[in-house]
Amino acid sequence: MRIATLGSGSSGNATYVESTSGAILLDAGLSARRITLGLKAIGRNVRDLSAIFLTHEHRDHAAGVAVLAKQVEVPFYATPGTWQALGEIAPDRRCVEPGVSLQLEGMRVTAFEVPHDANQPVGFTVAAEGERFALLTDLGYVSDAIIRAVRGCQGFLWEANHDPRLLLNGPYPWTLKQRILGDHGHLSNQQTAEALRQVVSDETMWVMLGHLSEKNNDPNQARQTASEALVASGWQADAEHLHIVPTHQPSVLYAVGAPLRGYADAG
Ligand SMILES: [Zn+2]
Ligand SMILES: [Zn+2]
Repeated sequence: MRIATLGSGSSGNATYVESTSGAILLDAGLSARRITLGLKAIGRNVRDLSAIFLTHEHRDHAAGVAVLAKQVEVPFYATPGTWQALGEIAPDRRCVEPGVSLQLEGMRVTAFEVPHDANQPVGFTVAAEGERFALLTDLGYVSDAIIRAVRGCQGFLWEANHDPRLLLNGPYPWTLKQRILGDHGHLSNQQTAEALRQVVSDETMWVMLGHLSEKNNDPNQARQTASEALVASGWQADAEHLHIVPTHQPSVLYAVGAPLRGYADAG
């Protein structure tokens, strides 16, 4: 399995996932043009996508859907609640139910509920070829059910949205600060680090940190907080295993590669 983010954060999210037999997109929060160009930048074509999954209706996750749906004939999958919020913005709208896996193009996609201020938001795991990847952005806290849903994955994209100190001293209005800090807001660096401690295992190969706030976080701070938690649990947290994905550009394609712990084979 290979994974790349095309953009991450409040200006737009989309994550490309491919197996040897097909490719999907998780979220389409960039313009259709940026998604097309982003895929091109990583040597892929928007026409290769066989489905697009949405985590929730917020603009930074769904802004590209309507135009994309006119350009490529793919089914769009989201929870019934997300469709209710988005309306009839794509002709081929299909439902996913949290906990029910969907098999397509050699991949098994499973949604799991996350606490966030949207209608029925979810995260996803994608399993293929004996590997499993989890995407968790936009959640206010990490429940035990979420830990159970993603534990054992080899690759992770975790939200590390804010540093509470920067957020509280930053420019946002108080009500927005409260929303972000709340149980239906976004994860802080510390919350993410604590969750990582619980989910990384011998199977883990890498962790990407994403959805970083440009105003309320500092990438070095996010990396250091996660890295300290990983190292304290006996994991490697070097540049090969812990990544911060770019906000405005595509990341590189990450293959599920060398294990996080121990003496990884350099090849
Ligand atoms: Zn978001
Ligand atoms: Zn959101």
